[in-house]
Amino acid sequence: MTIDDRPLSGRTALITGASGGIGGSIARHLARLGADLVLAHGRHADDAERAAQDAREVGARAITTPGDLSDPDVPARLADVAIGEFGAVDILIANAGIGAPTPLQDVTLQQWEETYAVNVTAPFLLAQRLLPAMYERSFGRVVFISSIAALNGGVIGPHYASSKAALHGLTHSLAKDAAPHGVTVNAIAPALIGGTRILPTDPSGGDELPMPIPVGRLGEPDEIGSVTASVVTNGYLTNKIITVDGGLLPR
Ligand code: NAP
Repeated sequence: MTIDDRPLSGRTALITGASGGIGGSIARHLARLGADLVLAHGRHADDAERAAQDAREVGARAITTPGDLSDPDVPARLADVAIGEFGAVDILIANAGIGAPTPLQDVTLQQWEETYAVNVTAPFLLAQRLLPAMYERSFGRVVFISSIAALNGGVIGPHYASSKAALHGLTHSLAKDAAPHGVTVNAIAPALIGGTRILPTDPSGGDELPMPIPVGRLGEPDEIGSVTASVVTNGYLTNKIITVDGGLLPR
């Protein structure tokens, strides 16, 4: 048996939130496996460009593109940019997300709607736009980056936890229809991942864990990047919510 060390050669991945800790790591992992990349970002273009540069250094073609995903016109525009540049999108990683810690009584309607726009509506619109062409080509991978908060409520608040839970329903709704077309749809639900803007790591190493994580530390972006790489290189894994949580939940 030979093992293909660049199984994503000839594939294009659109990754949202590629300027963030987790999105940047996913970009670097997929580039190493041979994928070309469209790296979407919000306010931090420099971080997305750094991930693109790293991808180019391992032989990938990579572009960055800005867009505020709270605007419902932006997902289609990102898809058009990707298709215009590389001809097709084979892999969608809907990773961009927001979640400002807020207790129930302080969550405003505006915050609720913005959280849903970025965390749920944008992934839905991207999948709706890109799945038909994946079906036509009989290949596709869709990964939604969710959160353990969808399963245990988490520490950010009801707007965030419920928006991530909506991604799980979306995963299950899409996965069954997609499976006969060679398209897999999964969600990855991380617990607490340091080295991100959502959860910056304390440089002195004194991070307090807001949840009792059995492995006793925050996760690292590369621990999500490597699982994502595994998911998109496996055509038999679909319709799953994959928790990467340091042993927090026993499933
Ligand atoms: P991060 O470093 O803050 O990255 C968030 C990413 O989302 C950034 O690239 C950001 O872009 C992008 N984004 C946010 N709002 C946007 C908007 N309106 N339009 C376009 N892009 C937008 O945090 P992260 O941890 O890597 O987050 C990645 C995903 O993992 C999120 O979905 C998050 O909910 C999920 N997650 C994180 C943790 C954790 O502990 N860190 C745990 C579970 C799940 P700009 O910075 O360029 O604006």
